Amino acid sequence: MVDVSDPQIFPEDWTTALVLVAHPDDPEYGMAAAVARWTAQGKNVIYGLATSGEAGIAGMSPGTAGPVREEEQRRSAAVVGVDEVRFWGYPDSELRNTEELRTSVAKSLSRYDPDVVITLWGGPDWGNGVPNQSDHMEFTRAVAQVVADRDLRAFQTSPYPTLIVDVSGYVERAVESLAEHRQYLSVLDPQTPVIEQSRAQVASATGPRGEFRHAVGFQPLG
Ligand SMILES: [Zn+2]
Repeated sequence: MVDVSDPQIFPEDWTTALVLVAHPDDPEYGMAAAVARWTAQGKNVIYGLATSGEAGIAGMSPGTAGPVREEEQRRSAAVVGVDEVRFWGYPDSELRNTEELRTSVAKSLSRYDPDVVITLWGGPDWGNGVPNQSDHMEFTRAVAQVVADRDLRAFQTSPYPTLIVDVSGYVERAVESLAEHRQYLSVLDPQTPVIEQSRAQVASATGPRGEFRHAVGFQPLG
């Protein structure tokens, strides 16, 4: 049983991180605050996304939504210092941990040769009873399987963190980053201004932990 009551500091003795996620906006619910810290330190962070999130905007056809979401993701990444964003073109909402998907993960690792890999939480729920999405769970399993045989440090965001990143000073940047998903968020909740949605979401993902006013939690993958 891992003791989650006393998380350790996330290691920062690395140069290049590959962030692998299922959808646009997956990096922006917390992780982006840590990414902002790391790029400010001069580290290189790359995003790889299995899908373009084309099923994610109600009332908008996938053919229209895909490019919109890709563009929003690129802007969002740029806000936290990430210039390299790759979309792999898998169908949104239909991700499965297949050989093909694992091959795409492996290719991405070969291409960027990262020191660390970071992905989104793949557990069955978010720690508050809200179930995780199938796409996230399938994708994280695929990443875990591929990195298992390699000499590579890999992490996932976690509602039960054993590792934390102090993101004090980077929360506003993360808010601006999530707010770049303008069309997505404005359809998701038309009643609440995008910046307010973004502020609330990032606040809940970067709450106080240990000695830090704002922290993002991770755990080793696998
Ligand atoms: Zn997602």
